[in-house]
Amino acid sequence: MTQEIGGFAALGLHPNILAALTAVGYEEPSPIQAQAIPVILAGHDMIGQAQTGTGKTAAFALPLLSKVDPAKREPQVLILAPTRELALQVATAFETYSKQMPGLNVVAVYGGAPMGPQLKAIRQGAQVIVATPGRLVDHLRRDEKVLSTIQYLVLDEADEMLKLGFMDDLEVIFEAMPESRQSVLFSATLPHSIRAIAEKHLRNPQHIKIASKTQTVTAIEQAHLMVHADQKHAAVLRLLEVEEFDALIGFVRTKQATLDLAAALEAKGYKAAALNGDIAQNQRERVIDSLKDGRLDIVIATDVAARGLDVPRITHVMNVDMPYDPESYVHRIGRTGRAGRTGRALLLVTPRERRMLQVIERVTGQKVGEVKLPNAQQVLDARIKKLTSSLAPLVADAEASHGELLDRLTAEIGCSPRALAAALLRKATNGQALDLASVEREQPLVPGAGGAPRERRERDGERSAERGEYRERRAPLPLTEGRVRCRTALGTRDGIAAKNLLGAILNEGGLAREAIGRIQIRETFSLVELPEDGLDRLLGKLKDTRVAGKALKLRRYRED
Ligand code: AMP
Repeated sequence: MTQEIGGFAALGLHPNILAALTAVGYEEPSPIQAQAIPVILAGHDMIGQAQTGTGKTAAFALPLLSKVDPAKREPQVLILAPTRELALQVATAFETYSKQMPGLNVVAVYGGAPMGPQLKAIRQGAQVIVATPGRLVDHLRRDEKVLSTIQYLVLDEADEMLKLGFMDDLEVIFEAMPESRQSVLFSATLPHSIRAIAEKHLRNPQHIKIASKTQTVTAIEQAHLMVHADQKHAAVLRLLEVEEFDALIGFVRTKQATLDLAAALEAKGYKAAALNGDIAQNQRERVIDSLKDGRLDIVIATDVAARGLDVPRITHVMNVDMPYDPESYVHRIGRTGRAGRTGRALLLVTPRERRMLQVIERVTGQKVGEVKLPNAQQVLDARIKKLTSSLAPLVADAEASHGELLDRLTAEIGCSPRALAAALLRKATNGQALDLASVEREQPLVPGAGGAPRERRERDGERSAERGEYRERRAPLPLTEGRVRCRTALGTRDGIAAKNLLGAILNEGGLAREAIGRIQIRETFSLVELPEDGLDRLLGKLKDTRVAGKALKLRRYRED
C-alpha cells in the first residue's frame, strides 16, 4: 500500500493530506493530478484543460490544502464554481481531503440560502471558500474586504461560468483580491474568452493538458451504457445476465469500490473477487491464477492492481468507473482480445461524463455505440437460455439412469411426470425468477437506460449512497457517542438530498463538517446526527432555516 500512495508522496504533498488519501483509498495520482500538483505546489499560475472525471478537483484541492495555513483563521483559498451543485461537491472534496488537518474549515457560498450564516462562517475564519460567482458578489457588496486575504484562487469549469453569464461578476471578484495571489484556471475547453481572462488575470501561467496520442483498438467490440451513478451496481448485475462472457474484468476507481462490487457479485452467486493495491502480492497472484483456471470468473480491479494482467480467458472488460483519460481506456480494454481473440468492452457513462466519452471516441477514432440496459424480457430470455443449455446435455442419458426412479416417484406421489419435472425445476433453479412478472418485480431499481435528465441527482453521489443504503437497512443505526439524532419532516418527497441538509446545517448552524454525523433521507422524513453538546442553541439557530423552499423544523428525535 505504501508503495501506491508513494505515487502521491513523491509529488511533495503534506503528510496530513497523504493520510487522508490513504483513508479514501486513492492508489495513485490521475494524469492531470500528476502534472498539476507539482506546478501548483511550486506556486505557478496554471491553466488546466480537463473535464469532469479526470480527477481535476483533487488536482487543485490537494496542493492548495498542502499550502494553506490552518493556524491563520482567515480566508486563504477561493474556489469559484459555476453551479451550487458543483460548489457543494468541491466543498465536500476539500472536507474529505482535509480530514487530518485540525482547524481547517471550508465554507460553501451559494445562492438560495440565507447570506448571514455564510458571512459569519467566513468571518469566523474559514480558510477555504467555495463559491458561485453571483452570491459571492452579493457578499462583496456587503463587505468589500471579504476577499482581501485570499492567496490562492481557482476558477473551476471556467467555460461553464462564462456560458452562465458570470463574466462581469468574475471581474468584480478579481478586483477584490490581492494581486499577489496564485491563480489556477480549469476548463474543459479554451475558447477565446477564456484565453482573454487568463491573459488579463493570470501571471505567466503554465499550461497543463493531458496529451492524447491516437490509439488503435482492434478486435474489441466496444459499447457504452448511460447510467446514473447510484445505479451502477444494479446496471452491472443486469448486464451480466445477458452478456455471454467467459471471464470478465471490471475496473473501478477506489479500493473500496473493488470490495463493494465484488461482494455484490458474490452475493448474486458469481465467482468474483477484488483486486486492489492493498492486497498482498502473493494473494494478488492467487486471484489472477484463479481467474486463469476458472475458479474465478470476475475480477473487480483498480488500474494499479490490474497492471500487466494477461489472462487469455478474459472475454469482457467492463469500465464500471470511467478511466481518467483515453490512454487508460485503451490500456484497460486491451485486457481482452488477447492472443488474436475477439473481446468486448463495456463502458458505463454517467450523464456528467458524456464529454469524456466523446474524447475517448476522438482519440481512438472509433465510435463507441450505445447499448440500452436489458429489459426484463431480455433478462428472462437469457436466463432460460442458460437453463436450456445447462439441461440439454443431460437429457440424452437421463432416462436410462433415472427413468425408473421417475416412474417410481410419480407412482408414489401420484402425480404426472410433468408435475414432477416442474417440481424438480423449481428446486434446481433455487427461487430464481423465471417468468416475466417475477423478473419485472425483481428489478425495479433501474429505469430506462440513458433515461430522464437527472443531472442534478447525478452530481449528488452522497444522497444516492444514502438512499441505497437505507433501502437495505431499515433498522435504526447505532449512534456515535456524544451525538443525538434529529428529525425533519422533509424527505425525498420534498426533493431533499443529504447535501441540501448538510449545506443548510453547515452554513446556518455554523458547525464544522466533522460535527455532523450520518444523514438518512427517507421519503417522508430525514434523520441527522448532531452533537448533543449545544444542541438547543443549534436548533435555535436553525429555527427559521428553509431547505428546498420548505421549513426545515429540525427536532430532537426520540429513539425508542
Ligand atoms: P473529478 O474529475 O474531480 O470530478 O473527479 C472524478 C472522481 O474521481 C471523483 O469521484 C473522485 O473522488 C475520483 N478521484 C479523483 N482522483 C482520484 C484518484 N487519484 N484515485 C481514485 N479516484 C480518484
